[in-house]
This record gives sequence, structure tokens and C-alpha cells, in this order.
Amino acid sequence: MGRVVTLPTDLPPPALRLDIDHDALQSNWRALNRMSGAARAGAAVKADAYGLGVRKVVPTLQAAGCDDFFVAHWAEVRAVLEVARPESLSVLHGPLSGADAAYARAAGVKPVINSLEQARRWIDAGGGRCDLMVDTGMNRLGVALEELGDPVLAVLEVDVLLSHLVAAEEDTPLNALQRDRWEHARTLVPHRRGSLANSAGIALGDAYHGDLTRPGIALYGGVPRPEMAGRLRQVVRPQAAILQVRHVTAGETVGYNATFTAPAAMRVATIALGYADGYLRCWSGKGRFHADGVELPVLGRVSMDLTVVDITNAPQLGEGDWITVDYALEQAAATTGLSQYELLTLLGRRFDR
Ligand SMILES: *Cc1c(COP(=O)(O)O)cnc(C)c1O
Repeated sequence: MGRVVTLPTDLPPPALRLDIDHDALQSNWRALNRMSGAARAGAAVKADAYGLGVRKVVPTLQAAGCDDFFVAHWAEVRAVLEVARPESLSVLHGPLSGADAAYARAAGVKPVINSLEQARRWIDAGGGRCDLMVDTGMNRLGVALEELGDPVLAVLEVDVLLSHLVAAEEDTPLNALQRDRWEHARTLVPHRRGSLANSAGIALGDAYHGDLTRPGIALYGGVPRPEMAGRLRQVVRPQAAILQVRHVTAGETVGYNATFTAPAAMRVATIALGYADGYLRCWSGKGRFHADGVELPVLGRVSMDLTVVDITNAPQLGEGDWITVDYALEQAAATTGLSQYELLTLLGRRFDR
């Protein structure tokens, strides 16, 4: 049995934080909403707004004018409803059970219906407003085109009829094929609004916009297509505190497995960030930080809770100072081979958000 202790109510200050630029987030939503032409931009906020935290992201997007939000799991509903109207929220996975359908009705959120079985389940539970996903080529979730004549779909009260693009970040004939199939589906099932484009799809032009677009990654600073680069701003900057400063002499090594040997005397800083926080080992010897405009390279292996960086050129830095990870998503993806989506959703629980 542990001893019963009374902890202070306030935690001591964190040594790891995510700097989230809410102005940039709003600016990105506005840019995507403009690029969506006559359509309105919504927002994919699944996976806790791609790791940024829905409780802060959703109100920021609402203040910019966003009023349609998408999560994947039923477990994600509660946090969004602390800050959003239930009518504005759709749950992409749909009702897998009668319990899911009952939960959707009680919460007042829209299930995205992905199959005839889910449609029946929703109607059996009492039905009401929902969205409908049509599969136009992903073969992942959604009602097949051949099933669209099924009478059960005619009974649904469909707000958004959606489909999802397979490879909108590429120039491939699949884009036009999926758009044509989605247009065709729109003639078969009554609905209020049509939606096809994710972030990259928005750049494909008006024919892909329908009434509602569903950007995710681009809101958070990802650049899914090169032509969007100049219009989107970086939103997320991981920052870590320096725990210790050391002097290393020429020939000494740094970190696990001694993969870095100092070529000369160096001043190095150990910071409170490691692969358990999503700063994976692929950044070993490659990552960069910065402080006051000075670049600070990662030395040797990233470990679970710690990383060592070279601060020789930043003599002003000392213990307790904060440094910022270079984490512009396009470049970070090129450096690591991770996708921009992974780079965001990896960032761990120990960051103060
Ligand atoms: C995740 C998701 C989006 C957002 O995609 P991005 O590529 O991040 O813009 C849109 N629609 C659906 C159905 C999704 O699952």
C-alpha cells in the first residue's frame, strides 16, 4: 500500500510544451475556406485535432467561422462537446452497435453511415439527422455505389453525403474518377450538402468542392500539395527546457552507443524531450533545434526522455532556458521519411498543450 500523501494542487512547471499558434490556425482555416470557393470549409479534428488538443483547437476554428467538425471514434465526442454544438459534430466510424446509435441520439451528434447495416441500425434506434459516406474507390469505409438504390438509404435524413479521395495529393486519374462517382451518387440519394475534398482535394478546384470541404492536415500546418505551400502557416512548434549544460572535450562521445564523437571542445545541452514524446530515434544526428536565431544540431542518439544538442554557438543559453524544435512539417517529413500526419499525431502526452 502506498502512503497517503497530499500533493500540492498545482503541478510544478512543465519542461516540455507545444507552442500552438492560434493565429496561424485561424489564418489556415480562412485560407482553406477561401480556396474552397463557394463551399464552406469544415475541420477534421479526429485524434484530438491531430494531436494539438480539441478543447483549444475547436474554439479557435469556431471563432474563424468553422461550424462542421469530424472525429473518428465515439470516445472522441465528449471532449468536442465541451466546446461545440452537437449538431456541428460528425462521427466518421459510424454506429458499430446499437449502443453507438443510442449514444449518438442521446448526444445529438451525427453518425456517418458507412454501410446498409449501419443505416438499418440507425433507423432501428430511432434515426434522425446523419451523414452518409459513399465509397468511390478507397475500399475502406462507405456504402458501395451498387448499393445506393437500396430503399433503406431513402429513409435516412442525410445532411452531408460524403466520399473520401484516395490520392488527392497526387495528379492521378483517380481524382476525376472519384469525383464523377461522387457526383453520380449525389443524384441517387437525397441529401442536404455534398462533400468530397480533404486538404489536398481543396487544391483540385471547384469541381471537387461541393458544399463542404473537410481539411485536416493543412489546418495544422501540413502542406499536402506544393501549390498550397505559400498559403499555409506553421502552427505547431515543440519546445523543451534545458535540464543540464555540459562541456565535452575533443574525442569524447555523446549518448547511447557512442554514435557521436566530439571533433573539438563543445558546449552541449541535455533537454527534456525523447522518443517517448514522439521525437523518434530517426532524428538522431539529424534533428535541429533553434534559439534566438541560432541553429542547434542534435548530437548522437535520441533517448527515451532526453536529447543532447550542440549549444556551442549559443553561449547565452543555460539550464532552464527553452529551445524550439525545427518542426516545419514538409521539411520534417523530408528529413525523417515520416508522413506529416505521423509527425503531428505522434507528439506525446507529456507535452504541455
Ligand atoms: C482525416 C479525414 C479528413 C481530413 O484529411 P486531411 O488529409 O488531413 O485533410 C477528411 N475526411 C475524412 C473522411 C477523413 O478521415
